[in-house]
Amino acid sequence: MKIVFLGTGAAVPAKNRNPTSIAIKFNGETFLFDCGEGTQRQMIYTDVSPMKIDNIFITHLHGDHILGIPGLLQSMGFNGRKTPINIYGPPETEGIINSMLNMGYHSINFQVNVYEIPIEKPYCILESESYKIYSYPMEHSIPTLGYVFKEKKKPQLDIKRAIELGINVGPDLKKLKEGRSVILKDGREIHPEDVLLPPKRGISIGYSGDTLPLKDFGKFLKSLDCNILIHEATFDSSKKENAFETMHSTIEDAVNIGAIAKVEELILTHISARYEDNMEIYLNEVINHSGEKNLNITIAEDLMEFPLKKVNKNNKNKK
Ligand SMILES: [Zn+2]
Ligand SMILES: [Zn+2]
Repeated sequence: MKIVFLGTGAAVPAKNRNPTSIAIKFNGETFLFDCGEGTQRQMIYTDVSPMKIDNIFITHLHGDHILGIPGLLQSMGFNGRKTPINIYGPPETEGIINSMLNMGYHSINFQVNVYEIPIEKPYCILESESYKIYSYPMEHSIPTLGYVFKEKKKPQLDIKRAIELGINVGPDLKKLKEGRSVILKDGREIHPEDVLLPPKRGISIGYSGDTLPLKDFGKFLKSLDCNILIHEATFDSSKKENAFETMHSTIEDAVNIGAIAKVEELILTHISARYEDNMEIYLNEVINHSGEKNLNITIAEDLMEFPLKKVNKNNKNKK
């Protein structure tokens, strides 16, 4: 279980940074967030397999977040993919994907399902037994969505308590774990809440996409008990005005949102190509903020892998 940063650059490719794309590998599934140009080539250097991707989440329709999609889909077709793929994005995503499917000659013989997500409010857009994925409306020059990947943990059995209550280990415990009450031989009724401990804190990852800093996004992440925030920080704080004009965030903005969200890990991405030859000012600012507000700050690098086990290990339930 890990996050793989396939592209961490902004707007145009740089020598060391591909345009944006992030993969989350979770329990055998791979979720792709944004797919900038060259994403499929970046995958070659990682263990992210295009064939294992069933869901792609697009934050917005700027080229640096979507131009890798046609190539990726065509390669999937070339490799004989038959399983459908789901693509989620803001309004107008369907038209864009359709035009991508009309590009050139190819053998895409699998279903491409496109889901346009309204941008008025947050939604839970995908749910399985083990996770939920939410969208959140962000503020950029065009309609943009942030996303949250949240692991669902099952409540734990308090075995000691169950034995004290005289419950038979086996079918009764299974029923209780599934949330059903049981009646013991002596007539006592035991409810799930009598023997279940609250679920352990799971992994929860927020991703901002391109955006101005949004305090409400931070609050939303806090309400979902997020532990990791991947936030764009296109500029260092001396370029505050550029950030505001282009509707992007600075390092300081990202730190502030991370603090509101009360995450432990803040990962900065979507870094401007202007820092390509001289990262010093950016790096110094990050060092200055380090440890502030209980945040571990990491600057994302292309092909960087962030293990989720590390977060699980430090996962004490927050008060
Ligand atoms: Zn961008
Ligand atoms: Zn953008």
